[in-house]
Amino acid sequence: MPGWDYAAVNKKTKTPRKRFYRKRVELFLLIDKIKLWPSRKGVLHGIRAIEKTGRQARITTHCNRTFVVNDSRNSRAARWLRNKWFKSVCGACRVPEWKLEKYSATMFRRHHGSTLAERKDENGG
Ligand SMILES: [Zn+2]
Repeated sequence: MPGWDYAAVNKKTKTPRKRFYRKRVELFLLIDKIKLWPSRKGVLHGIRAIEKTGRQARITTHCNRTFVVNDSRNSRAARWLRNKWFKSVCGACRVPEWKLEKYSATMFRRHHGSTLAERKDENGG
């Protein structure tokens, strides 16, 4: 039974495993997954809630900012998230270190990775 050994090793690894998403991934699906938002000033906020209303979503950050965004793969925020551009991390949002590490281990590829479109039972991954 080769299964359990591998699982034990996985638990010990400190660096998060690389995950791959498609470049064309939908913005809402992406932010729903990574729960981070880059503001226009280049500050990375933690997302507390996303309320989808059709092609728009109201986002609430942990520092209690609320704003409405359009679901566009080509928006500034979508681009910044894919390129992982940010100047600083919001102190009020208290984005945990592990989340930033996970984010930095996230890769965006054109032909490889999840589109996040099919919902699998992947909790807290
Ligand atoms: Zn914030």
